[in-house]
Amino acid sequence: MTTAAPTSIEMSPADLREILKLTRAASPDEACGLVVGRREGDTLIVTRVVEATNVVQPDDRPKRFEVDPETRIRLEKRLRGTPDELIGHWHSHPFGPPSPSARDLAQAYEPELIWLICAPDTSPPLTAWRADPKAGGFRPIPVLIAKEIS
Ligand SMILES: [Zn+2]
Repeated sequence: MTTAAPTSIEMSPADLREILKLTRAASPDEACGLVVGRREGDTLIVTRVVEATNVVQPDDRPKRFEVDPETRIRLEKRLRGTPDELIGHWHSHPFGPPSPSARDLAQAYEPELIWLICAPDTSPPLTAWRADPKAGGFRPIPVLIAKEIS
């Protein structure tokens, strides 16, 4: 991935629907997964969203998430030698807000990964963020829902 931060993210309506479906199915727990894509200029193009188990303790799942590390390892192996790469992860806030929590900030170990957050009852239901450790927070990135992604 190049050095400058992407200025927008493009994803298909089908991938947005998939995240919404998984979010509603997991509610009141947080759903989570990984995001695959590629960079084109200043834009990150999402080519696939992947479901993962939220591996935190069951009692914590309505408030926290952790993507199953096995899913990530398998996915990164599959992506080797393809034009696509792991560009980030997604998780849900079943009851909002559509912005990163203090817990999310504490978990932002990998500033190059994009965070997608799905809050199904807000508009828009999906927001994208990039951790900015120097600023001590997250910066929003606009999400464009494309008609079709080639
Ligand atoms: Zn969160």
